[in-house]
Amino acid sequence: MSRDPSLTLADLIGKLEVLRVECPRCGRSGWYRVDQLFVALGPAMRIGDWLHNLTADCPRRDLPAGVSECGADCPDLVIDNASDGSLSSSRQ
Ligand SMILES: [Zn+2]
Repeated sequence: MSRDPSLTLADLIGKLEVLRVECPRCGRSGWYRVDQLFVALGPAMRIGDWLHNLTADCPRRDLPAGVSECGADCPDLVIDNASDGSLSSSRQ
């Protein structure tokens, strides 16, 4: 499982209604409507950058990399390696 670092909000429109964010390290979890993020942040906002901003207050994020830094990620954003690399949802 991997997340495309160049993925933007524009890539999610029409494919995902809600963007879930989970951090197993600090127990953070939440969800955000993609259309509202799109309006608020613009189509070019990268998901990676957005996550970076979102977790700015995570108590673990500033720990040295590889130790136990914040692990916030979007479980719905899974790149399907078997296809052309387009976004697929992992929702059951
Ligand atoms: Zn965290």
